[in-house]
Amino acid sequence: MNKQNQLNAEHALAIIVADDIELTRTMIQASLQKAGYLDIRLANGPDEMLKRVEERPADVALIDWIMPKMNGLELCTRLRQLDDEHNRYTSIIMLTAKEGIQHLVKAFGHGVDDFLNKPINELELAARVHAAGRISILQNSLLETMRELEASNRILSEMAVTDPLTSLGNRRYITQRSEALLAEVNSRGGTLAFLMIDIDHFKQINDQYGHDVGDEILKKIARRLRKATRPTDVVGRFGGEEFCILMHFPDASLCTPNLFERILKSVSDKPFNIDQHQVLVTVSIGVSICNKSGEACAMPTLLKEADERLYKAKEAGRNQVIF
Ligand code: GH3
Ligand code: MG
Ligand code: MG
Repeated sequence: MNKQNQLNAEHALAIIVADDIELTRTMIQASLQKAGYLDIRLANGPDEMLKRVEERPADVALIDWIMPKMNGLELCTRLRQLDDEHNRYTSIIMLTAKEGIQHLVKAFGHGVDDFLNKPINELELAARVHAAGRISILQNSLLETMRELEASNRILSEMAVTDPLTSLGNRRYITQRSEALLAEVNSRGGTLAFLMIDIDHFKQINDQYGHDVGDEILKKIARRLRKATRPTDVVGRFGGEEFCILMHFPDASLCTPNLFERILKSVSDKPFNIDQHQVLVTVSIGVSICNKSGEACAMPTLLKEADERLYKAKEAGRNQVIF
């Protein structure tokens, strides 16, 4: 920031003054205007200040210590609460005729940043407001940076578990969810079905129609799988042209083969319409099922079993489920 911009930013500081004596308010206003400040609001007491700050926050607040109804210290506490709610910072200068270290300690405890003794010296007022403004600008830009960091962290952690092509959970997500569901089965019971789904001869589809059509088919398969399952089932893209589904059942009798057949048919029954092409796609599915038993189920075993059954489905001619 060059010197002129710095000066402009400083003079644009939002300042608010709360004092019940009109003469003091206007005197402060005149002094600050003389020092070049442009945005000065006046409040005749705590209620008005709180109302104005709710409407638009201030960078610097000058507060008289003694006012009717609510004293300056209580007002200070309220301002800090508002700052907390809105995740911002107001620099607070207390105007006081009181002296003595114990008063200062008490006021700092209420969140006051600085003091000005009455009667107010014009030059001192401008200097203190200048310093207070720098503190609030710095604090607010820090808060803004923190907000931005939090937002990008949220996006990053979402990206870390999302497949960008299909928007389904990725392999990491599937692993996390299966571990959580396995823990549930091992402790509380129920049944977990782990489906490994592989598109048959997908390379041929890419070779015949191009990779763009291949990508569209992957997206459409993701949608069909999502539609063919319950909202509580986990559908993910394991990688390449492989998908996974995790289905948890409170009772083993609910986990029936026709459920898996229905999922298979949701892909292979109807062709995909893409760029005037009608593309029929089949998948092979290997299913491993885990029930609470003497031996705890673990993710590597589940994965290995589903993989082995998937290969059996391929060997047996593809477009089928083995469980
Ligand atoms: P099988 O025929 O038994 O299913 O064998 P396979 O699974 O080993 O091989 P398949 O030909 O089905 O699948 C592998 C191909 O999948 C290789 C690659 O071209 C394609 N593929 C993997 N990821 C993507 C992707 O993100 N987009 C597209 N368009 N194709 C992909
Ligand atoms: Mg494959
Ligand atoms: Mg394949």
